[in-house]
Amino acid sequence: MARTASDETLRIEGMALKRGTREHKRMPVAEQADGSWVELPVIVLRGARPGPVLLLGACVHGDEINGIEIVTKFANATDLKTLKGTVIILPVQNPLAVQAQHRYAVSTFLRSPLDQSPADPWAAFPGDPLGNTAARVAYAIHTKFMRHADYIIDIHTPTTGGRYAPFAFMPPPRVGKAAKQALELAKIFGPDFILYTEKGVYVMEESPHVVLARQGKIAFGVEVSEGSHIHPEDTKRALAGLRNVMCKIGMLSGKVKKIGRCMVIKDQAVVRVNRAGLLQRLCNLNDEVKKGQVVGIVTNVFGEKVEEVRAPLSGRVVRVATFPIVSAGERVCQLGVPL
Ligand SMILES: [Zn+2]
Repeated sequence: MARTASDETLRIEGMALKRGTREHKRMPVAEQADGSWVELPVIVLRGARPGPVLLLGACVHGDEINGIEIVTKFANATDLKTLKGTVIILPVQNPLAVQAQHRYAVSTFLRSPLDQSPADPWAAFPGDPLGNTAARVAYAIHTKFMRHADYIIDIHTPTTGGRYAPFAFMPPPRVGKAAKQALELAKIFGPDFILYTEKGVYVMEESPHVVLARQGKIAFGVEVSEGSHIHPEDTKRALAGLRNVMCKIGMLSGKVKKIGRCMVIKDQAVVRVNRAGLLQRLCNLNDEVKKGQVVGIVTNVFGEKVEEVRAPLSGRVVRVATFPIVSAGERVCQLGVPL
C-alpha cells in the first residue's frame, strides 16, 4: 500500500483508488493441485476525505458466514462522499473452508492431517510464505492488508451448533497499551460481553488480534450470531456497532449511540452434559441464571429423562448450543465470569 506524492491515488495490491472510489478484486495466495488458486476477495472503500485505515475481516473460519453478510452489507451501505479514510474489507479470509462450510478446509485436512498443521489460519499469524496453505493464507492477510491498517476488527460467529450474544474478545492485558485501547474501542462497538483475559484460546500469541496488538495496532475480534446461519437482527446489531466505531475514530460524522451491556468477563464457565440424547435447553442468551438452576434436560432414545443439567455458578448466559442432540461432554451453554 503506497500513496503518491500528491496523496491523490492510493495503491494497494494492484488497485489504484482515487479519493471517493471503491474497488474489489480477488487476490491469489496459494496454488492448488488442480491448477486453481486460493483467492482472497478484497473490497477497498476510499473515502472522499483523508482519515484512518480500518480493516474488517470475516469468515477466517469457514462456517462463520454471518460475517460475510455483515461486511458486504457494510460495504454497500457506506457513502464514500462522507467517509473519511479507507476501509479494507476481507469478506472471505479462508476460501477453502468456506467451500466446505466448515471451520477448517476439511478436504485437505482429511487427506493429510499432519501436513495440514496448522489447519487454522486464525491460529497461524503472522503466517509464513513458505508454510502450508493455512500459513500462506495468514501471511497474505497479515502482510498485504492488516499490516497497513490502524484499526482491525475480525468478525466471527461460534462454530456450527452454537450462538453467541454479541461478544468481543481482546488482546490480553500483558500486551499493554494496545490491549487497553482495544478494550475501550470494543465498548464503543457495543457487545453484550467483552472477554479480557490472560489465558485461553482467545489470547493465543498466534491469533491475529494478539499479533497486531504487539505491533501497536488497535485490534479485536467479535463473535456475532450463529455458525452456518444468517440472523438479520444480529447483522443489524453489528452494523450499528461498526457505525459507532467509525464515528469514534473519526471516519464518520455523528454521535456514538450506547448499545449493548458491555459486561467485561475474565472467563466463561462451560456447562456440559454427562448423558446423551435429545437436549431441551432451558436458558437463552443473556439470561441471568442462578447456581444450581436447571439449564437443560437430556432425554435418551427411549424417551426417558436421563439428566437435568444444572448451572455450576450464577452468571449470565454468553453462548448457547443450538443443536438439539448431544453426546456426553457436549456443551449446553457458557456463563460469563465477571472480571
Ligand atoms: Zn471464528
